[in-house]
Amino acid sequence: MSKETRLNLAIQKTGRLADESRSLLERCGIDLLKSKDQLVCKAQNFPLDVFFVRVNDIPTFVATNACHIGIISQNILMDEQTVTTNPQLKGIQTLMELGFGRCRLSIAVPNSSEYQGIKAFEGKRIATSYQGLLREYLKQNDVNCEIVPMQGAVEIAPRMGMADAICDLVSTGTTLAINGLKEVEVIFESQSVLIRNSELNTVQEELLERLRLRLKSVQVAKSSKYITLHCPVKKLEEIKSILPGSEAPTILALQGREDLVAVHAVCNEGVFWNTMEDLKAMGASSIMVLPIEKMLD
Ligand code: AMP
Repeated sequence: MSKETRLNLAIQKTGRLADESRSLLERCGIDLLKSKDQLVCKAQNFPLDVFFVRVNDIPTFVATNACHIGIISQNILMDEQTVTTNPQLKGIQTLMELGFGRCRLSIAVPNSSEYQGIKAFEGKRIATSYQGLLREYLKQNDVNCEIVPMQGAVEIAPRMGMADAICDLVSTGTTLAINGLKEVEVIFESQSVLIRNSELNTVQEELLERLRLRLKSVQVAKSSKYITLHCPVKKLEEIKSILPGSEAPTILALQGREDLVAVHAVCNEGVFWNTMEDLKAMGASSIMVLPIEKMLD
């Protein structure tokens, strides 16, 4: 198969998104055989070549169409797009949210400072590795503030007297707590996304659509559960009404039981213990909640 009939995908080589990106492809049924320091890998059973690169380079790979698609954190893409004047980088499109690598870009100040709102940063200094998004946020709020650019270890800047506050990614909040900082403004909510170049040929567009459908189906399957239970016929409507996110359950007769039926349903939301307890209290029995591996509507 020639190059033009395959899709090139850029994913992070090592780091927070690397393992999830690979595992997502595996859940889409795409087999990757990759040794530790290999930079490119041909999928065995899908016309896809996967390039393992630094996450900050992914926008450039996709902007130049060296890779047609990429998996990246929204915050990196948005930060790049807010500062660049390059039309190719600005033209990168987000195809879908992938739901992992969730974090927020926040402003944090020392615990000892009394926070008085974003306007209080007028004339102050904020250290960050995300100059584009921070600058945009300050502009929107009409605040003039010096941005101190840093490549990492941003959280030590206030202690070192380099800045009054920091703007950094927060996931669990542990790093802020360890460094005596408190989160005061969330400026961007981020997660991983699938991005694409706009100039794909017809075959590549078709391959991308196939991949998009598989990703979608993996997402739907992950958030859905298959529930089966036995239900007194008299209670059927009541029980159906509390099955979470289920539209049309299948009702099956149970041999030798006129008073009971079996209910099978795909629930598009999580099924929690309290729902199971409510079902039981209404008279349901033999309640089973099963994971769904794949689902294609
Ligand atoms: P946490 O202590 O879990 O709040 O994580 C904060 C530290 O991890 C900071 O140094 C952040 O720069 C970094 N971090 C958190 N989430 C992400 C992410 N999704 N991608 C890259 N770095 C992150």
